[in-house]
Amino acid sequence: MADKYILAIDQGTTSSRAIIFNHEGTIVSVGQKEHEQIFPKPGWVEHDPIEVWNNVREVIGLALTEAGVNKESIAAVGITNQRETAVVWNKETGQPVYNAVVWQDTRTLDIITELAGGDLDKGAGRYQDRVGLGLATYFSGPKVKWILDNVPGARADAEAGKLLFGNMDSWVIWNLTGGVDGGVHVTDVTNASRTMLMDLKTLSWAEDIAADMTIPLSMLPEIKSSAEIYGYVGPEGLLAGVPVAGDLGDQQAATFGQACFEVGNAKNTYGTGNFMLMNTGLEPVPSKNGLLTTMCYKIGDQAPVYALEGSIAVTGSLVQWLRDNLKIISSAPEIEELANTVEDNGGAYFVPAFSGLFAPYWKPTARGALVGLTRYINRGHIARAVLEATAYQTREVLDAMEADSGVKLTELKVDGGMTANNTLMQFQADQVGVPVVLPVVAETTALGAAYAAGIAVGYWQGESDVIANWAEAKRWEPKADEAERERLYRNWKKAVTKTFDWVDADTKE
Ligand code: ADP
Repeated sequence: MADKYILAIDQGTTSSRAIIFNHEGTIVSVGQKEHEQIFPKPGWVEHDPIEVWNNVREVIGLALTEAGVNKESIAAVGITNQRETAVVWNKETGQPVYNAVVWQDTRTLDIITELAGGDLDKGAGRYQDRVGLGLATYFSGPKVKWILDNVPGARADAEAGKLLFGNMDSWVIWNLTGGVDGGVHVTDVTNASRTMLMDLKTLSWAEDIAADMTIPLSMLPEIKSSAEIYGYVGPEGLLAGVPVAGDLGDQQAATFGQACFEVGNAKNTYGTGNFMLMNTGLEPVPSKNGLLTTMCYKIGDQAPVYALEGSIAVTGSLVQWLRDNLKIISSAPEIEELANTVEDNGGAYFVPAFSGLFAPYWKPTARGALVGLTRYINRGHIARAVLEATAYQTREVLDAMEADSGVKLTELKVDGGMTANNTLMQFQADQVGVPVVLPVVAETTALGAAYAAGIAVGYWQGESDVIANWAEAKRWEPKADEAERERLYRNWKKAVTKTFDWVDADTKE
């Protein structure tokens, strides 16, 4: 079987990709297509599930063509997806009843406030012990309630057992495996753990929480492991008959692709925002420091593995802001050159609390600030402060993870667009005080889904093959003087406090 390949579908927020991997875990070919971002109102973000499904089919074709292979060469298909994006569709017609409500969408604020007993500050933790998540507009369960409450006829059809719900993984798998002609309605534990509806200990739907959200249980997919054969591609597709065998939410897939299989292994993805996950082993670890408790992965009938997750809203997008709003750079990579025109930040700190502060502060009324300014500060210092902001925020999340888990990190595996920035990665290593390590295959998300599928069908033997294939491209060792790095971090923390409580009755928002 080793001469065959695995095809991973990465159904992301802005595009869908199909990537074919070989037995060494390297990329053979890629097909990619963007889909429309639909913004019907401020704060609302939707995708057309039909467009997404058509794109998935198209990119599978593109990847097969580029590799010059057909389904006979594909041992299994794995899926990874934008998490928390909710699709509700009719199982008799195969038609969505509404557009997919995307993870970024904030329309469920009233719903979650009501579930929190009228006060999110006090009640957001209502289900946290069971599902690992605080009430937030981010998660998919309340989005389903919104669809049932607002789409004419949807609730009656749901109660009659005609409607199905899923994150994008379920929608893609149902269609891949035949849709109205016998498609399987499943999800994996990592995706289920982002709905607010799954009990983290039993890995089954929390029926009382579904009742609180008025979601009929008949709509919910069957919860499976992340690596097993869910079904086979239906007769219509280019991959007809190939097993569909891996399913992980995107950040968990990246954690898997980065071979974070030991307790305390962590990866940080540097994109528009940052997502850090740490493997915490066989028990869910509740967070006292503003992190999410979530599933890491579950391979077949092996015990489930849990993770702590910390997200930072603004990292790469601050670089974009410098480029698009201030126009002091003309491309993202240019920031490195500009930052290197100065020796240090000159005393300036940039706290990008553009939409409040996420982990570990969770302060929605904070707003951004550039502090420590003097006549001395120039564009270079601001560029440097922008890069440093990502590193300090990452350190704060990591400190929270270490405090919650009691595990000290030995190295930080990284991926994502900002890892191209050498200055940032060196500064990151200096701040966290452990090596920062980048793998050769930067497409860790698709790779993780491929590994899950390949393990399920015996193409790979298990985690040991993933570890063996993982290869280091680059490593940044901490070199900063200890006293200096702590002084900078103390100043950063001081800068953060200057952003608190900015929004009040006088700020117009
Ligand atoms: P996403 O998957 O969230 O779209 P990517 O992993 O593609 O993000 O990373 C893109 C982000 O990385 C952008 O926000 C961009 O500003 C930032 N970025 C890209 N290259 C660099 C660079 N050389 N230095 C700093 N930031 C960069």
